[in-house]
Amino acid sequence: MEPLTEKQIRASFVNCTKGEAARMRLPLDFAELPWEDLDFLGWVDPGAPLRAHLVLPRDGSPLGISLRVPSVGRTSAVKSSLCQICLTGHASSGVTLLAAPLAGARGREGNTVGTYICADLACSLYVRGKRQPKLRAGRQEESLTLEERIARMEGNLDGFVSRVTGVAVA
Ligand SMILES: [Zn+2]
Repeated sequence: MEPLTEKQIRASFVNCTKGEAARMRLPLDFAELPWEDLDFLGWVDPGAPLRAHLVLPRDGSPLGISLRVPSVGRTSAVKSSLCQICLTGHASSGVTLLAAPLAGARGREGNTVGTYICADLACSLYVRGKRQPKLRAGRQEESLTLEERIARMEGNLDGFVSRVTGVAVA
């Protein structure tokens, strides 16, 4: 993806308040991110470890989604060790269930959509083999090419983002 400025990132969020977007902390390695290897920027908030954010290019401008670790007992989802975005298998601590408030009024009423995702949100790097899971949960043989794996990841991410924004991908 094309490198983004801090201003672009803070202006991109569709499911949190302007105040929250202004207060969130950027990745600690923001100055040296490997943008060319990223299909989306995802990070755990260095100032609030129960919050994470992701920003993806969409229709020529960045779109940001704010996520949080759901409070215990609120979720009935089956625990997974597989990232639902990039399909990397991890030991259990390598995958986190994160919930995104829906954009707009439905989100302010407390409605969220959740997904299991690599705990460091570095799906782009796992797909490219630039980062390895600490403990892989059952290595799967992949017959897909890198381009196909990236396309699958982008499709999964688009599906998740569409559920948050309520707007289907054109
Ligand atoms: Zn992932």
